[in-house]
Amino acid sequence: MSKNQNKTGSYSFFNCIEKNFDKAARFISIEKGLLEQIKACNSVYRMHFPVKIGKEVKVIEAYRVQHSHHKLPCKGGIRYSMKVNQDEIMTLAALMTYKCAIVDVPFGGAKGGIKIDPQTISSENIEKITRRYTSELIKKNFIGPGIDVPAPDYGTGEKEMSWIFDTFLSLRSGDVDALACVTGKPISQGGVRGRKEATGLGVFYGIRELCHVKEEMYSVGLDVGLVGKKIIIQGLGNVGYHAASFFHESGAIIIALAEREGAIYNKKGLNVSKVFLHLKNNGSILNFPEAKNIENTEKALELECDILIPAALENVIHKNNANRIKAKIIGEAANGPITPEADEILDKKGVIIVPDIYLNAGGVTVSYFEWLKNLSHVRYGRMEKKFRENVNTEFLKVIETVCKKKISIEEKKMILRGPREIDLVRSGLEDTMINGFHKIRDIKKSLKIENMRTAAFVLSINKIIDSYEKLGIFP
Ligand code: NAD
Repeated sequence: MSKNQNKTGSYSFFNCIEKNFDKAARFISIEKGLLEQIKACNSVYRMHFPVKIGKEVKVIEAYRVQHSHHKLPCKGGIRYSMKVNQDEIMTLAALMTYKCAIVDVPFGGAKGGIKIDPQTISSENIEKITRRYTSELIKKNFIGPGIDVPAPDYGTGEKEMSWIFDTFLSLRSGDVDALACVTGKPISQGGVRGRKEATGLGVFYGIRELCHVKEEMYSVGLDVGLVGKKIIIQGLGNVGYHAASFFHESGAIIIALAEREGAIYNKKGLNVSKVFLHLKNNGSILNFPEAKNIENTEKALELECDILIPAALENVIHKNNANRIKAKIIGEAANGPITPEADEILDKKGVIIVPDIYLNAGGVTVSYFEWLKNLSHVRYGRMEKKFRENVNTEFLKVIETVCKKKISIEEKKMILRGPREIDLVRSGLEDTMINGFHKIRDIKKSLKIENMRTAAFVLSINKIIDSYEKLGIFP
């Protein structure tokens, strides 16, 4: 049993990340002390606060962890789940640090969590808890546009982010930058267009890029391109649903979708929006008319497919099921879905694993765009949209005159259009995901690293080292 394993022989979640970090550290020659500093969590705030629910006073357990202050503010989502604990939140905060470095988002990593089950608590009580949590963060200076900026994660969304913003503003009235204290807000509350689907879209861009690389596809016996690839997705929440929709629209075949209550399967493909509608109307994905039910939801992960996308929770692929996984590519849309033991088994089998610290970075990338928008107090595209359209009109007139040919109204509409906020956000995200993929791949090739995860950690750690060095902390 290694020093990282607990009594039962399995790793704590934080130890899993340390293990991945240590594998990458072998490729980096730097003083051990600096590596230890990068690995450690800088601040852990564990709190208990009372909230009156009905006639009873309930004591709520919650956390905010700031893993790294090498760049400020810190950034990371807040999750609501009964599984929330200190180890989990520390790990997720650490992942945020590495993730931000990979996609050049200038933040330190953080994460928050409240130990509640949002499915069994009324919306009014979730609001009470969220507002009280926010005021606890304010009291201890754990939130603010230049300090620490939360975002949605498992079990939270736009609504909770609005409550956080509103509570912050009411206690810090007059702060002109208050909007930038949290991201993932609704558009009407300073959110940015494209944030809701950003993580899922980032997952899509990352996997699409991989599928375009001939060498990678041939290494697992697949053809180049996404069209026709058979995909299984676990978790039809914010990340999973949007990823599934983008894959479906691009011509990939979603053969199975797995949720808490079970999974559905159709080898010819599932229509994602129809499944989502069915889920909304029935409260379950099971009994979807065009599919077969799989009662044991975990079994869906073991079906024959090209690409498996776990987009629900951590540790869902472990030493007991890794050998039965048949996917040739696994895209980690969720944080930490594969345990270190499973990672080694899958590596030996030659499965390409696209790691979480790169693949699900779309959310924080667009959160960064939202934060910038809030600080600049202007919508993306507002200043240049009309100007671009005017320039394009003049340009088109010249082309028509020189070519002596009229361009059709449909073509004109397409060419003349100035950039909207959503266009700028999505193109910024696409560029970030494409660049990130190739930077990881270049490191993997140049250092002859066996897998993408280790290469991604090397890229990330080197960037953090660079930042510490430039701060003058470590010569
Ligand atoms: P979410 O709460 O919107 O959705 C999670 C979904 O998983 C839900 O539909 C839930 O019912 C389902 N689920 C729960 N247990 C399951 C099980 N055992 N089997 C199958 N499905 C199950 O959460 P989300 O925001 O989509 O986050 C999902 C994962 O992505 C988490 O690991 C999160 O940390 C990670 N992530 C989220 C974001 C983001 O922007 N929301 C960004 C980066 C990473």
